[in-house]
Amino acid sequence: MGHAGIARRQDHGEDLYDRIGAFLAAHRLSPDPAHYMFAHAVLAEPGGDLAREVALLTDGGYRLTHEQIEQLGGEVVAGGMPPARWAGGDVALDRQAEALVAQTQAQVDVFAAMTRAMHVETRDFGRDLAASAAAIERSPRFQHSDEVTRIATAMIRRIRESEAKLAQATEEADTLRAKLAQARDDARRDPLTGLCNRLGFADAFAERVEGSGPHCLALCDIDRFKRVNDEFGHPVGDRVLSAIGEALAKTCDGHIVSRHGGEEFAILLAGCDLASAAALLDAARAEVASRRFRDRDTGKPLGMVTISAGVTAIRAGEKADTAFERADRLLYTAKDTGRDKVCAA
Ligand code: GH3
Ligand code: MG
Ligand code: MG
Repeated sequence: MGHAGIARRQDHGEDLYDRIGAFLAAHRLSPDPAHYMFAHAVLAEPGGDLAREVALLTDGGYRLTHEQIEQLGGEVVAGGMPPARWAGGDVALDRQAEALVAQTQAQVDVFAAMTRAMHVETRDFGRDLAASAAAIERSPRFQHSDEVTRIATAMIRRIRESEAKLAQATEEADTLRAKLAQARDDARRDPLTGLCNRLGFADAFAERVEGSGPHCLALCDIDRFKRVNDEFGHPVGDRVLSAIGEALAKTCDGHIVSRHGGEEFAILLAGCDLASAAALLDAARAEVASRRFRDRDTGKPLGMVTISAGVTAIRAGEKADTAFERADRLLYTAKDTGRDKVCAA
């Protein structure tokens, strides 16, 4: 076998190694040999039964549960993973990533300011140098001094080159700053619905201005959503999820509507007392219930799709977790007492 073959095999090996790392991270598995073995078994044979089963279980961004890994013949070492949950819901991890972006952004800001200052300085120096060179050439004292003219011309050319390079560096730093700003925004957004995610919501909750009037918290959950996925498939479920997010955002326009997990939405209603918050959520509920969802490809009706919600008034100085507990309890009262319902207290 020639060198090219060996190089290809090595590339393949490194690529697999990277994918194993990504798999462990995605499923919150520690780098334990047992976890490596499972990840290897899944990834080494992409067309195999195991890979197919894993693809089915994780479609839509799900993390494999402890039980699922064991059912698939893997072993989970104690402390290897937190309980199964929606893959987009880890605020602590999002915060870490976000801190890293913020740190990089601060460094790039310093770098951009430095290159910009150097660019201005070089440009001014180039201008002064050109002016001096012109003055020298005009001066009778240096008449016919070819040497001076040659040196000045070379220096000016060098300065012009540096100036162009610095202008380019400044431009690149600006592009990088824009990309980082975009990354910070993306970190707060849910890609499926375009709504803000848990992190964005946590910030909005913490930054609420209490003096601006009463605030309420609503937690919304799609009723019997599993049925939609089971009968029509995940992609159809995704479209329903997105349409409901849109309906909530429209009805609760001016308030913070977030996707808070799988098929759950959290809404922060500012300047709204409990009665008007409940009325707004009930309008959203009625709007969703009135829709006649259909499978886009087959035209088949999806049947009634409804939502339930729990709404609570946020107390002065209250932290998010206790308000969420109350809203969650109210949501489950709505579920227990028939669904397609809003409970407020
Ligand atoms: P309930 O009325 O009690 O809320 O019933 P439910 O079926 O909605 O509740 P359950 O919690 O049993 O199931 C929620 C389902 O939501 C499970 C999962 O298939 C689905 N789901 C969560 N996130 C997504 C997603 O991003 N896309 C799709 N298509 N489905 C999702
Ligand atoms: Mg549900
Ligand atoms: Mg739910």
